[in-house]
Amino acid sequence: MKYDVVVVGSGPAGSATARFAAESGAKVLIIERRQEVGVPVLCGEGISRKIDEWDMLDGKRWIAGKMEGARIYSPDGTMVKLSADVAGNETGYVVYRDIFDQELARQAIKTGAKIMMNTTVVGLLKDKDKIKGVKAKHFDEEIEIEADIIVGADGVESKIGQWGGIDTTLKTKDLETCAQYTLTGIDCKDAYCDFYLGKEIAPGGYIWVFPKGKDVANVGIGVLASLSEAGMAKKLLDDFIDSHPELKKGEPIRFLAGAVPVANPVDTVRDNLILVGDAARHVDPITGGGLTHCLEGGKIAGEVIGKAVKAKDFSADFLSEYEKRWKEAFGKKIKRNYLVKEIMLDMEDKTFNMLADSLKDYKFDQISTLGLVKALVLKHPTLLMKLTPLLKLSEGKEKDT
Ligand SMILES: Cc1cc2nc3c(=O)[nH]c(=O)nc-3n(C[C@H](O)[C@H](O)[C@H](O)COP(=O)(O)OP(=O)(O)OC[C@H]3O[C@@H](n4cnc5c(N)ncnc54)[C@H](O)[C@@H]3O)c2cc1C
Repeated sequence: MKYDVVVVGSGPAGSATARFAAESGAKVLIIERRQEVGVPVLCGEGISRKIDEWDMLDGKRWIAGKMEGARIYSPDGTMVKLSADVAGNETGYVVYRDIFDQELARQAIKTGAKIMMNTTVVGLLKDKDKIKGVKAKHFDEEIEIEADIIVGADGVESKIGQWGGIDTTLKTKDLETCAQYTLTGIDCKDAYCDFYLGKEIAPGGYIWVFPKGKDVANVGIGVLASLSEAGMAKKLLDDFIDSHPELKKGEPIRFLAGAVPVANPVDTVRDNLILVGDAARHVDPITGGGLTHCLEGGKIAGEVIGKAVKAKDFSADFLSEYEKRWKEAFGKKIKRNYLVKEIMLDMEDKTFNMLADSLKDYKFDQISTLGLVKALVLKHPTLLMKLTPLLKLSEGKEKDT
C-alpha cells in the first residue's frame, strides 16, 4: 500500500489534517486503533465559539449546549463571571465529542481521505534513517504502508514523535491527571461553564462543571501529576460532588479517566514527519483545552502537506512552514500561558481569593492591563507585589499584539 500521507489517529487533529491535505489533492490514509471514531470520549467537551469562524463542522448535531459564559470560583467561593467572548478556549459550546470527532472524520473522508479502523501503528518504516511509512497491526495481521509523510496525531501518549527522533517525554509537572463523571438527574439552571479553584480541591488544576442539557453535566477534575498520587483525582472529585447537594443527587451515566499535557510544545517537523494536536503538546497549559488548537493546527498542517505533495519535497525544511504558521497562530500564547501556569502554581489560595474579590465586579469586556491593575490594587494593594511576574508577562503580550 502506498499513500502520500498517513495520519496516525482519528481525533480532531488527525481528521482536520487529513481533510485539508486531501482537499489540496494529497492521497491520504487515516489509521485508527479504535473500533469507532471518537469513542470512548475522553474530554470535558467544552470548546470556544471561535470554531464558528472556521466553518469546519456541518449542522448542529455535535452541539449539546451553547454557553453564555464562565464562572470562576476562588477557594473561598467568591465568583468571577465572564462572558463567552472573554472566557477562553473551553467556553462557547459544550459538544458531544463522539459526534464532533465523527463529523470531522466525515469531512476528511468527503474530501477524499481513506480511513482504516482497528489498526494500531506499531512502528515507522525506515530505509536507513529515512522515514518511508508505518508498520501496523490490523487485528492479528502485520502490515506495512508506505507514505511520503507521516502525521503523528496520536494524542497525549504519542509514540510517533519519539520513533521519529523527537523528544516528546512529559514531566509529571507538565501533565494533568483527570477524572470525570457525566451526571444526570441534576438541575443545570443556566448555560454557564463553572470552574472551581483551590489547592485543597484540585492541586495544580481545577474542577469543572459543564452543562450538557437541562439535567446533565460533565463534572470533572484535573490534578497536576507531580502533586498527585494513585486514585487522588477520583477521590477529590467524589469529595467535591459529595459536598455539593445539587450534584450529589445526580447519577453517573459515564465515568472517564485521562491525561492532558500542559507543557511547552515540542519540535513538530522532521524529514517526512509532522506532529499535530496533543502529540505536538498543542494544549493551553492553563486550561488544559486542546480542541481549538487541534483544528487550527490541523488545518495549517494539511495545507502545508498539500503543498509538499505538489512540490514533491518532504524535507523538514519545506515542512517547517507548518511550524512557523502554528507558532504565529497560537504558539506564543501557549508559551506565555506555560509561564503563567508556573507562576500560578506558586500562588497561595489566599492570593486567588484576593484576586477574585478584586475582580468579581470587573467589566471584562473592557479588559486591559492598566484596568486590571487598577481593579486589583484599589482593593488589595498587596496583590501588586504577588502579581508582578504575571503583569510583566501581560506587558509582553501587549507588545506582541
Ligand atoms: C478529561 C479530559 C478533559 C478534557 N476537556 C477538554 C475540554 O473541555 N476542552 C478542550 O478543548 N480540550 C479538552 N481536553 C483535551 C482534548 O481532549 C485534547 O486536546 C484532544 O482530544 C486532542 O486531540 P488529538 O486529535 O490531538 O488527540 P486524541 O483526541 O487523543 O486522538 C488521538 C487518536 O489517536 C489514536 N491512536 C493513538 N495511538 C495510535 C496508534 N499507535 N495507532 C493508531 N491510532 C492511534 C487514538 O486511539 C485516538 O483516537 C480534555 C482532555 C481530557 C483527558
